[in-house]
Amino acid sequence: MPKSSAQRALVVGAGIAGLTTAWWLERAGWDVLVVEKAPSFRAGGYMIDFFGPGHEVARRMGLLPALERRRAPISSVTSVDARGRSRATISASAYSAVADGVISLLRGELAEVILADLRSPIRHGTTVSAVDDGLVTFSDGSADSFDLVVGADGVHSRVRELVFGSSFVRYLGHHTAAFSVQDPELSARIGYRYQMLTVPHRMIGCYAVRGGAMAALMLYRSDEQAVPEDPAAALRDRFGDLGWVAPELLSAVPQDIYYDEVSQVDLPTWHRGKVVLVGDACGAVSLFAGHGASLAMTGAFVLAEELAAGTDGAFERYQTRMKPAVAHTQEFGRRFIGWMAPSSTWRISLRDWAFRLSGLPVVRNLIRGSVAPDVDGVLHRAS
Ligand SMILES: Cc1cc2nc3c(=O)[nH]c(=O)nc-3n(C[C@H](O)[C@H](O)[C@H](O)COP(=O)(O)OP(=O)(O)OC[C@H]3O[C@@H](n4cnc5c(N)ncnc54)[C@H](O)[C@@H]3O)c2cc1C
Repeated sequence: MPKSSAQRALVVGAGIAGLTTAWWLERAGWDVLVVEKAPSFRAGGYMIDFFGPGHEVARRMGLLPALERRRAPISSVTSVDARGRSRATISASAYSAVADGVISLLRGELAEVILADLRSPIRHGTTVSAVDDGLVTFSDGSADSFDLVVGADGVHSRVRELVFGSSFVRYLGHHTAAFSVQDPELSARIGYRYQMLTVPHRMIGCYAVRGGAMAALMLYRSDEQAVPEDPAAALRDRFGDLGWVAPELLSAVPQDIYYDEVSQVDLPTWHRGKVVLVGDACGAVSLFAGHGASLAMTGAFVLAEELAAGTDGAFERYQTRMKPAVAHTQEFGRRFIGWMAPSSTWRISLRDWAFRLSGLPVVRNLIRGSVAPDVDGVLHRAS
């Protein structure tokens, strides 16, 4: 695409999708500016399992060695009872047989690896307050015009709201929180094993991360979509009676907690004029589907590839390739709710039995069919 006098692209959001989009666009000759709402780069975050087509995109970007260096040495996934005793375990080898080449790492680490290889400027503490096709007004009052505006600002996308309206979020009936606590004793006790305690409609998961820290993930059913004003108090209220490590975690909830409703995003058209959406902004699949980061990188790659093939119709071709994969993964995510946040003790027992039998090839294949939606074909470009 832009070869001589570089065309200008604005990428809104320096997350997984935004950084990957900027990476590919700058290599295709675009002059890219990234704006990010957060005042500075946010490291850490929650643990993600990174695999599928995004893994292949990372390979094409030459990032796999850096990602491998950050791979968390998680050796197993164990379901525990309220006293921390093992109920059922799925080994890492059984898990990686289910999800080929999976790399477990913190979301912030994935972002950091992409960022380390990016040259485009990032303006932190900045968002957009108006988008009129290519003419953009920023939160500091300045305005500028661009040939391309990419909304990569996540599930609560401001670009989507400004350009497309705000009613495209499908609430999945749960809230989730993720945070880390510095507690070497607890971290050593849990170890590099993902352990989780599930009771109907509630789940706490945790695992040791390097440097004596513990990462926690909490998930619970809530009929109320809006997030509470005091997330730490809401978590104490919901999980205070759960036992195991809940009291220690709840007494140390930090300020910079990640807390959000669990939602998917579904809108009929991902582009308008010079504006296009990528990643969670147009196709959040939710933590239940577990493929969001992978799809965010894939979408960024496919968008850049289609733009490189010719701007005319590029957004439509991008959407045609990505949307079925996103819809397929979203559908899978909705089915997976019952596995991750079972609604009854009976369902919890069923899930634990699947864990116990995960060493058997037949069960592994069954789990594979249900936890790993087949979306690899999305990387194939019809010429
Ligand atoms: C608990 C949890 C577990 C998950 N597990 C997995 C997993 O195992 N595997 C997997 O592949 N995916 C997983 N995901 C999903 C994955 O993290 C997301 O799908 C992925 O991060 C989406 O990338 P994104 O760049 O579109 O959005 P984000 O990563 O959310 O990035 C959006 C960026 O935009 C910025 N921003 C927001 N609003 C504005 C604004 N108005 N102006 C400017 N900037 C803005 C944000 O600060 C952020 O930097 C999980 C998600 C959660 C919550």
